[in-house]
Amino acid sequence: MTSKTHCIRCGTCCQKGGPTLHNKDKKLILEGHIGYHHLITIRKGEPAFNPLSNQLEPVLHELVKVAGKGKTWACIFYDEKKASCDIYKHRPLECRLLTCWDTSKILTVIAKDTLARADIINPTDPVLKLVKTHEKKCSVTKAVTLISTLKKKNDDSNSLTKLKTLFQQDIDIRTKAVSEFKLSLAVELFYFGRPLFKIMNPLRG
Ligand code: SF4
Repeated sequence: MTSKTHCIRCGTCCQKGGPTLHNKDKKLILEGHIGYHHLITIRKGEPAFNPLSNQLEPVLHELVKVAGKGKTWACIFYDEKKASCDIYKHRPLECRLLTCWDTSKILTVIAKDTLARADIINPTDPVLKLVKTHEKKCSVTKAVTLISTLKKKNDDSNSLTKLKTLFQQDIDIRTKAVSEFKLSLAVELFYFGRPLFKIMNPLRG
């Protein structure tokens, strides 16, 4: 909560990260205001900041978020020079509800009625088959389980081999998708989320 009573366009909220998309935002994608290259998928089990608990927690189900700019968390649509949103008229639900001086409205929608990849990928999209294979073979929860086993048993070569295989499968499926469907890195991050080894890095300790 701050002492503000109206938006002074300081940009803090947009620089903290892009919004998670909800069912009400689906039309923004269908109408072309937001494309796959603007999005990133947070897969089930991936650690992410939970505004309700105010801490980093594994997400209980898959989320689709507006991506960050470059290597920062700042929303891809935030124009720093103009201190404005490139899609202001068509900004997602969370952005419309967020007022930093009173977060009560946004808190009512957090984690409710959110979009997953399957809600916005056309069922005839040829990449979908690889997305499903990837989720089945290289789930985040599988990797998290292996990491926690490795932490408990220091010298567990079996789990280490399994983890390395999982990381390699993740890379192989992405490489195949990028080569077959000429995906840009931005679009790859929507279809497959972040590479497993990157997600797991902070957890390896
Ligand atoms: S979509 Fe626009 S309003 Fe929402 S976080 Fe990004 S820049 Fe800010």
